[in-house]
Amino acid sequence: MRTNEPLLLAGSPVAAERRAAVQADVEAFRRNRGYAPGLAVVLVGRNAPSAVYLHQIIKGCTKVGIDGRVVEIPGRATSTGLRREIDRLNRDPRVAGIIVQMPLPKHISLRAVIDTLDPSKDIDGLHPLNAGLLALGYDGFVPATAKAAVELLKAYKIDVDGMNAVVVGRSNIVGKPVARLLLGEHATVTTAHTHTHDLPGLVKTADLVVVAAGVPGLIKGSMLKPGAVVVDIGINVVGGNIVGDVEYDSACQVVSAITPVPGGVGPLTNAILLGQLMHAARGTGPALQVHQALQRMAGA
Ligand code: NDP
Repeated sequence: MRTNEPLLLAGSPVAAERRAAVQADVEAFRRNRGYAPGLAVVLVGRNAPSAVYLHQIIKGCTKVGIDGRVVEIPGRATSTGLRREIDRLNRDPRVAGIIVQMPLPKHISLRAVIDTLDPSKDIDGLHPLNAGLLALGYDGFVPATAKAAVELLKAYKIDVDGMNAVVVGRSNIVGKPVARLLLGEHATVTTAHTHTHDLPGLVKTADLVVVAAGVPGLIKGSMLKPGAVVVDIGINVVGGNIVGDVEYDSACQVVSAITPVPGGVGPLTNAILLGQLMHAARGTGPALQVHQALQRMAGA
């Protein structure tokens, strides 16, 4: 048990710096082009958790001068209808970035929708081209939450090089990209999921634990190695409160650094998303890498 307080990995101060940089980029873009960069958030049906997240994204856009718009599609829409709408946004020159809000209704093929996104507008890194670039260690659009988790560690000067890292969760949007990013930072990475034997035993070996399971209280202080660093990506509503996947109070007795929930990865996720939108709008950074990859694949 530790006697001093762990370092709190708060996302808001880091996010504020990122947003200020994005705001300056947006102003320069408007001066040059005469219009605001556009972000389209596609919402299929009415889903409460998505709606809250969506509201935060649009609010973040407004604050920095981005033209954020919600494209509402009725929940009864078919995969074909949704693909048609995404294709229309792909061709709209004022729309620099497109996000499709998850989860989609069960009758819609997630894969068919993701494959339709223009990879150079796919600012949340879901398209197979962007996922492939990340898997190969090349630059492209990376899921913003995963990037936020790793950027938060960097902002607090936590060097993961050589650390034993356990990522709990293997979704395409969070767990897998976090694991790939940590590998890129030279951590020794193990990914855990529901079929993992002895999760507590595995977590006990970890210098860094990143949790994205969506299970409140999954990771308890007693499971953690003393001095471990913990990044809690989970967002769960329990008794009207937002909590993570880590039992915060017991973890604080053991760890050297930990993200609060809310206030950790979440605020930085939105700032990173807007930064990625500006790359898409200007055709720089990951957008340029995607463009060049597409050209090479077309043999141009
Ligand atoms: P998914 O449900 O898609 O994936 C959850 C993953 O956790 C799965 O791989 C699952 O394993 C694993 N898992 C679930 N229960 C356990 C368990 N008991 N033991 C070990 N592994 C388990 O969720 P997402 O990846 O989309 O999201 C994860 C969490 O992150 C959620 O709480 C979500 O709200 C939050 N989130 C936070 C964001 C932010 O900005 N902070 C943004 C996006 C998501 P298996 O594959 O075997 O089923």
